[in-house]
Amino acid sequence: MKLQFQGERVLAVVAHPDDADLLCAGTLLRAREDGAAIAVCYLCQGEKGQPPVPVPDLAGMRRREALNSAEMIGAELFTGIFSDMTLADNEASRAFLVNVYRTFRPTLILAHPSNDYHTDHRATSAIAEVVTWTAAAKGLVTEGLAPLPSPPALWWLDTLGMTSFEPTLFIDISAYAELKERLLLSHVSQLSRGKDGDAHPFRDLVREQMQVRGREAGVNAAEAFRPYVTYKRTRAW
Ligand SMILES: [Zn+2]
Repeated sequence: MKLQFQGERVLAVVAHPDDADLLCAGTLLRAREDGAAIAVCYLCQGEKGQPPVPVPDLAGMRRREALNSAEMIGAELFTGIFSDMTLADNEASRAFLVNVYRTFRPTLILAHPSNDYHTDHRATSAIAEVVTWTAAAKGLVTEGLAPLPSPPALWWLDTLGMTSFEPTLFIDISAYAELKERLLLSHVSQLSRGKDGDAHPFRDLVREQMQVRGREAGVNAAEAFRPYVTYKRTRAW
């Protein structure tokens, strides 16, 4: 049996400009090849992820890096407006994401789990979940953007390093593992933060993670998820 993404609209909602590449680029690529529309939305600008030699307009640089990466996988990109380490589930962040959902009109959201390691990831998790409901609420009026016909499904993303995450769904990304590693190199500002200065700081971790998740699922490389099971966000695939 193979899960087909044809006809879906898949939106990854992540905290920082490189998170989608780290955690779900393979699945996005596979979805696109099946005929799905794919998009990435990061909420924080990444301006505090400074390399050893600080970059003056790091937010701008990281936006360009994320754009480059999104172009490589054929994804639409929604860029973040919030500052690193300040993201909270509040009226402003909810309103921002309602507009993104009502613009892209996703059928499936991929978002960080609520126990992830970074404060911005945990906030993203909360906002992404709330908005799966509110973006479909007819009573919530947004100028020029219609409510979603129904709440999109939501899959929780794996955590970096697989800490405290029990997946229940594995997507075979063996065909995309190499490209996923190359995508990390788009994030030039982050490379010098790696231990050899020539690789994304998480490249080894990501490679290992794809292999471990693959081994668990009997394939060469996989990305892991946990579909969110709650009223109207659960789907039969
Ligand atoms: Zn992050």
